[in-house]
Amino acid sequence: MQCPTCNNLNAATDVRCMRCQTTLIHEAAGHSEGFKKAANALDARMYSGIGAFFGFALTAVLLKFVLTEHWLSDRQIYLSAVVAGVVGSLLGRLFLKAKHEL
Ligand SMILES: [Zn+2]
Repeated sequence: MQCPTCNNLNAATDVRCMRCQTTLIHEAAGHSEGFKKAANALDARMYSGIGAFFGFALTAVLLKFVLTEHWLSDRQIYLSAVVAGVVGSLLGRLFLKAKHEL
């Protein structure tokens, strides 16, 4: 990849320019709409996945091992964790949206 600052020719996989340390991947993201969209879609999937995982895991662990003073059966705990996972996934997307609007 050619450096936009000093025109030094770097390897396609280089993150920074070998000569002037300009961030090359960042430059590419700034120039290509397609790249940005792909990166955003990947971000959205990642954030909602992380949100879903933590929502599910936290709720399951809390209900099963920490907040044991309740009337829920294992099946109800599982269902609550699934709901929390969906909520977590939505929160992850909201978080990403908020991050982009800053
Ligand atoms: Zn350079």
